[in-house]
Amino acid sequence: METFEFQSEARQLLRLMIHSIYSNKDTFLRELVSNASDALDKLRLETFRDKDLVADTTDLHVAIEVDRDARTLTVRDNGIGMTREDVIALIGTIAKSGTAEFLERVKASQEAAAQDLIGQFGIGFYSTFMVADKVTLVTRHPRSAEGVRWESTGEGTYTIEDVADAPQGTAVTLHLKPADPEDHLADYTSTAKITEIVKRYADFITWPIRMAGEDGGEPKTLNSRKALWARPSGEVTEDEYTEFYRHVSHDWNKPLETIRMQAEGTFEYQALLFIPSQAPLDLFMRERKRGVQLYVKRVFIMDDCEELMPEYLRFVKGVVDAQDLSLNVSREILQQDRQIQLMRRRLVKKVLSTVKTMMADKPESYATFWREFGGAVKEGLVVDTENRDAILAIASFDSTHDAERQTTLAEYVSRMKEDQQHIYYMTGDSRAKVEHSPHLEALRAKGFEVLILTDPVDEMWVGAVPGFEGRQFQSVAKGQVDLETEEEKADAEERRKDFADLLAWLTTTLADEVKEVRLSSRLTTSPACVVGDAHDLTPTLEKMYRAMGQ
Ligand code: ADP
Ligand code: MG
Repeated sequence: METFEFQSEARQLLRLMIHSIYSNKDTFLRELVSNASDALDKLRLETFRDKDLVADTTDLHVAIEVDRDARTLTVRDNGIGMTREDVIALIGTIAKSGTAEFLERVKASQEAAAQDLIGQFGIGFYSTFMVADKVTLVTRHPRSAEGVRWESTGEGTYTIEDVADAPQGTAVTLHLKPADPEDHLADYTSTAKITEIVKRYADFITWPIRMAGEDGGEPKTLNSRKALWARPSGEVTEDEYTEFYRHVSHDWNKPLETIRMQAEGTFEYQALLFIPSQAPLDLFMRERKRGVQLYVKRVFIMDDCEELMPEYLRFVKGVVDAQDLSLNVSREILQQDRQIQLMRRRLVKKVLSTVKTMMADKPESYATFWREFGGAVKEGLVVDTENRDAILAIASFDSTHDAERQTTLAEYVSRMKEDQQHIYYMTGDSRAKVEHSPHLEALRAKGFEVLILTDPVDEMWVGAVPGFEGRQFQSVAKGQVDLETEEEKADAEERRKDFADLLAWLTTTLADEVKEVRLSSRLTTSPACVVGDAHDLTPTLEKMYRAMGQ
């Protein structure tokens, strides 16, 4: 037997679990059942891909056993299991991206807020330490002859030893803390309690979840096993959707919006998608995966199916079940399949139109959506030209009109002055910097509204998108901003003549610093300002390129 230390991040998370005041401790069972179900999916898939794998797939299921005298609860599956290396890597460390940031936030927050963060992060297997003072896991992977026994009290170390006769799959045994209603600890050796939790959290799991009766009689299947997306939408309750969302997303929050879609005819499929209510910590990290699972005729095929959702909608979670694909379908086939491309187009349009509806009917939900995911969605303006208008229609921006509230482009246009041609914007690091910029002065004097774009991605799309409803986007920091009436123009021409000599002299004298010195009508209080040429890089982009060493 060998003793190992938990990686330090894992140790911190475990400490949070052991001392958890989280009021919903029942959720540990959801995590175990969810892992068991994933393990069964994976085994099924592996046996498809690898015909030589020696595994019994005739009765894949989850079994829950309790021992009232020993005060133990065991969740057993005959799924994919884990090798010794898997156990050390998966159970002894936290590989999730965003862990470090999560722990930083926990440190900075109050105890109660920290518990909320736990919900958001989704602690998975470690949640067992909310209800158990010792956890034992026995597992075997079909490719290993020997099994592995892992055990820990969650306090710093765990032990690992080989076991000769481990059955296929994984069994997790919790040595339960005494029941304590004060501490939200129910009696988890009660069949009634377990049945209630499984019904509430895992009814939709497609594998049977069985439990022996109190008197040791025939095991009973606790879940109805009906795929939610195949049931009529009027029949499914919000709670059921929420639990399903938690299962597919590994996020403990409620979803912000649930989207259902059904296509019949030559290519039949059903989709059940969710928009989360909170961005994951790693939304902008490169290794981030997309969250849509592909099923074929109710059978799980793959996670993170990027062929179904573009990168800029990577936060959308859920399931797409296609009826007419082969169970052996691979990523390569998906990439070339025209039906899949059509399906993806429809899914994207559906997501965007759902947000549009949300905007009109549930402004608060929309505000949450845009705050959490707007940064990602705006990437779509650069890459998804087909849906540009639809994305612009659901976008919101800071503007000089109202410091407290963002504006949509439609609202901006409705406020445009009669003599205003363009949608003016200015990019910069922060609202304060933009507001103090001399570039804004002339527009302000005219009463023109200016969009304040401070997101790094704004620089990318605003150069690529020609306009909104026939109005061009015009940077106030670039080129000639045409603000003058005919009379003003004649006047300016007059002044240019008067100052021609001075301007020529300034242009020669400053030749190393600037391209040209022009008389400006933009400024009202500042004596001079530097502007970029229409085709020059903006200061922020210039900085970005410089930082990249170019
Ligand atoms: P998550 O499920 O979000 O990945 P968990 O903490 O619940 O996080 O589980 C960590 C990992 O341990 C899983 O991703 C899986 O690889 C492995 N694991 C957990 N339970 C099982 C199980 N019953 N069978 C096989 N692997 C498991
Ligand atoms: Mg899990």
